[in-house]
Parts: sequence; C-alpha cells; structure tokens
Amino acid sequence: MLELIEKVRMYNEKADFDLITKAYEFAKKAHSGQLRESGEEHISHLVGAAKTLAKLKMDEKTIAACLLHDILEDTKVAKEELKKEFGQEIFDLVEGVTKIDKLRISDFKIRQAENMRKMLFATAKDIRVIIIKLADRLDNMLSLQYLKEDKQKRIAQETLDIYAPIAYRLGLFSIKWRLEDLAFRYLEPKVYQNIKKNIAQTHEQREAYLEKVKSILETSLSKYNIKLDIRSRPKSFYSIYRKMQKKEVNFKMIFDLLGIRIIADDVKECYEVLGIIHSLWKPIPKEFDDYIANPKLNLYQSLHTVVVGPDKQLVEFQIRTKDMDKIAEEGIAAHWEYKGVKGDFKFDKQLSWLKEVLQLKDKSGQEFFETLKLDLFSYKVYIFTPNGDIIELPKGSCPVDFAYAIHSDIGNRCVGARVNEKYVGLQHELENGDVVEIITQKNHMPSREWLKFVKSSKAKEKIIQAIKSHQLIPIKRMAKLEETKSSLIEADTEFREFKLGDCCNPLPGDEILGLITRNGKITVHKKDCKNIAEVKSRINIMWKESSTSINLKILALDRVGLFADILHNVSSLGINIDKANVSTINKDLAECNLKFELNNLNDVRRIIERINKIADVKKISIN
Ligand code: MN
Repeated sequence: MLELIEKVRMYNEKADFDLITKAYEFAKKAHSGQLRESGEEHISHLVGAAKTLAKLKMDEKTIAACLLHDILEDTKVAKEELKKEFGQEIFDLVEGVTKIDKLRISDFKIRQAENMRKMLFATAKDIRVIIIKLADRLDNMLSLQYLKEDKQKRIAQETLDIYAPIAYRLGLFSIKWRLEDLAFRYLEPKVYQNIKKNIAQTHEQREAYLEKVKSILETSLSKYNIKLDIRSRPKSFYSIYRKMQKKEVNFKMIFDLLGIRIIADDVKECYEVLGIIHSLWKPIPKEFDDYIANPKLNLYQSLHTVVVGPDKQLVEFQIRTKDMDKIAEEGIAAHWEYKGVKGDFKFDKQLSWLKEVLQLKDKSGQEFFETLKLDLFSYKVYIFTPNGDIIELPKGSCPVDFAYAIHSDIGNRCVGARVNEKYVGLQHELENGDVVEIITQKNHMPSREWLKFVKSSKAKEKIIQAIKSHQLIPIKRMAKLEETKSSLIEADTEFREFKLGDCCNPLPGDEILGLITRNGKITVHKKDCKNIAEVKSRINIMWKESSTSINLKILALDRVGLFADILHNVSSLGINIDKANVSTINKDLAECNLKFELNNLNDVRRIIERINKIADVKKISIN
C-alpha cells in the first residue's frame, strides 16, 4: 500500500492521499476474511490493480475507485453507503465496473467479439471504468495459475479476444502486450514455453550484436552532431507467435529480427536519423512504414524500417519523438498529464471525442473528466439472443425491434418476450447485455400501434409491409375448444371445466358452490352469493389444497400488448409461468391459456386478482 502511495507521489505530489488511504482502509475492512484462489487476502488484488493504474499515472479518484471496484459485488456495503462515503463520481466509477462484471461476457461467440467490445464501451459510460477493468483483468491474469485448467483457458481466451484489443484501441500498449502474453501462455502453453526457451538461449548473442549496431550508428550520428536515446526493445512472446503465423516464416528468422528504438528530439530529426540508417545499411522496401505522416487509429506514431545490418542480420528500427513514445507506451493515459494544456498530437479518427477533450485547454480539471464520459456507443444497445448471438439496436429499442432484427417473420409473429427470464411487455426498453427470448404466435400479425414505440428502421419498415399485405389477405381462424380437467377444484360430478362467477369473484380460500350451466361447465360461486341463493341445482365443490399447477383460460378484447401485459403482470408476482399461448377467437376476442406452478393455493388468488385488473380482460376460467 505504501508502495502505491509512493508511486502516485512520483507523478502527482498534490494528489489526495487521504482519499486513497481511506478507500484502502474501507475496502480492506469490507473484504476482510475474503481470500483469493492464491490464498492471499482480496485486498492484495485491489492494490495490485491500483498499482497498474498508478503506472499509467491515473487521477486519484480512479485509483480510489479501483480499490473499491469489487465492493458492490462481493461485500455487504450498500450503494447508499458507498455514495455517502466517497461521493457521486467515485460511486459512478465503481458501479460502472460492477455493471461490466454483470454482462455475460463469457457467453459471447468469437466472431462477435467486436460487438462485445462495443457493448463494454456502451455500458461503461466513462473511459476510466474501462481502464479500471483492464487493470483488474491484468491482475487476475497474473494469478490465473491458481485456477482450474478449463477456467484458465476460458478467461485467457476472453482476455485475448475482448480486453487486449480494447487496451490496443485505447493505446495502452504495455497493458495490451502483457495481457496477450499472459493469455498466450495459457492458451498455447507448449509454443509459449518454446519461444521463451529460445529467447533465453539467444539472449547474449542478441545483446552483443545490438551493441555492435548501436556503436556503428552512434559514430555516424556524432558526425551530424546528433545525440540520441537508443534502446533495444523487448519483443512480446505473443507478437512473435503472431508474426510466425502471419508471415509463415520460421522461428529463427523472427528471432533474428532484432529491434532498436530511437528517441529523437523532434520530427525533423526522426527523418534525418532514418536517412542516416538507410545510408548505412540497405533497407527492405516493403518493411518501411511512416506512421508519423499516417498515424494509426489509436494515435500511434513512429517510423518503422527494417534493414540488412552487419553480418546480413535483419534489424528493425523504430524512430519517434519523446511525446510519440509516451503515447505509444501509455496511450490515452498519457493525456492525463496534459489536462489544461494544449497538446499537439494528431488524434484518433475513431475515438474522436478524445480530440475534443484535449482541446478544452481553458477548462478545469473536473470538466476534463466530465468529457471522458463515453458518448462513443451510447446511441446503441447490445442485446443477446438465448444462444449468445449479439444484436446491435438503437438505444431505446424494445422486444419488437429485437424480434425484427432476428427475422421479419419472428417480428410479425411476436406476441411477448422474456428478458433475462422475466416476462415483459412489448414496449419494455432493452438494456445492454439483456438476454431476450421472443414469444411468437402462429398467424399473428403486427399492429399499427407498434409503429408508435419501435425504434429501429428495419422494424418500422417490416411492420408497414406486413400491415399492407395483411389487408389483402384476411386470415380466418376458429377458436379451438379443448377439454381439460381441472386439478384445482374437487367436485362430485363428471363436469370438469370451471368458470369463476362474475357476480361474486370467488377465489381460493373462499367457501364455494357450483352451478352446472347449459353448456356443461360449472360456474363457481361463493357460498353466500346472492345470485344463487334461490337456485336448487347447486353442487358441492371445494378447492383442492394439493394442487401444484393450474391452467387458466383468459378471454379478453384483443389489443396490442394484451398478452405481454398478462405475462408481465403474472411474472411480476414472482410466480413461474410454465406455458403460455394466445389465440384469436374472432376479430375482437383473444383467448390466453396460461399454466402456472403454484407455491400454494393463495397464488391463484393473487394471479386472478392481478389479471382482473388488466384492462380488457373479460373472463377467467380454471381448467
Ligand atoms: Mn476485481
């Protein structure tokens, strides 16, 4: 912990160290007794991640939030308490990380990794949330050895597919290659060990050779009065592996490719040095890249060239200024230091919001961080299908949009939806990471009403199309009458279909009597119902206590969202719906059949009371 404080002090003497210490003490207490797989206290993970952020020179609020990042998920600390202790900004960061943890990232399919990454951005809402998450993941990768093998592989794959590319996008190269190397170690253990062994073997030779190249270069440069910072650079294991795959060259050649980085004073000098190198050794034309004139999307700038060095060895040079080097190593984090100062970088075309941030030269630090709230993907939501595909929709989309995004046929026949296993109405607003299952009904047709709440243009277009074609071909359907036996009511008669009396609304628990109607159903009344006081043909019936499930038939005036309303109302009572379907009796009337699991007989009472309140419901029968 002291180490962390010292790290922060190195780049920001005026940091709020009390805040960091407070967050540390708070987290330590809340997580006390929680151990990691490695046997260490959980706080060691939090400090480990926070140290990574200190290396990136992050602000103290981000560091405090990092120390608190698992608190909402893993401890009893309530949201209100956290907000009270640390304020809104830190609370938002912690909650952002928690939200990302709740996304079902492990459900993703590799081909949809890009959508998954976008979903993370859309969920995070503040770039610092993503950076905390990267530090968290890096620390977890460092203790991956304590997990079971299948878990190691899954986490490593996810790191490689989701988190490393995000680090790259943000220009956090040191995090990117560490994540990649760690993931690579668990995904391809044999290749990894092989590369590691070879690098160790050739280490001395490489050092000696690089010294030779450096001294030749230094002699030449001194003639031009240029003094430079020349470093040989480590190559990541994963990048060696990728190069081997991509270029289909053998191991030896890759190792032979030595790297030297030169840090020049300004851009002019970069090109001068390049000229000197090319006059000393023959360059390989197709290996030359000018990322100073054409920066990469993540702001990376540098000159790259490969030459045939002494003894016909290939040597790669990277030439860049100090500022470019900072961006290359630290990416977006490098900008933290430039707050309030006009920078002279060329900014990422893709992450163009960053550009605006740095142009805010007159604004205060607080506003600087405000601007880091991500607008990047906030106009989209990313929704899962039950089998893990991700669908991108406009923000504010509802299950109908989702249904049309899958297939226009599913959209047309959509009558309801389950979101994260709960029934919802058709107008329910979907959120990032929701898992949506669409309930369809044969021959169902979309309604003009839907146009009022769908957001995607595809849904709008398809609904209009379907309505037009529907007007030409009227579909006639007959009500299907089924004979089912009620498991809910006991009666001494062969008649088995029960309708609840409209007059007295009997419910489980009430004392009841039955009347046999002309069409062979039994109407259930309360024993003291005035309407049946005079009737002679009453039969004795009673509620069956042993019931575990019932079927309800609901007749209602057909309208948009009726079925969804019913499903939503029942599931909001916390009662499981086993089966649900709806059919149209005629142009005005619909029949819904629901099967429930019962916890006790009182559930029936609650369900019927609730459904009775839904507009347009006319009759409820128990089958
Ligand atoms: Mn964590």
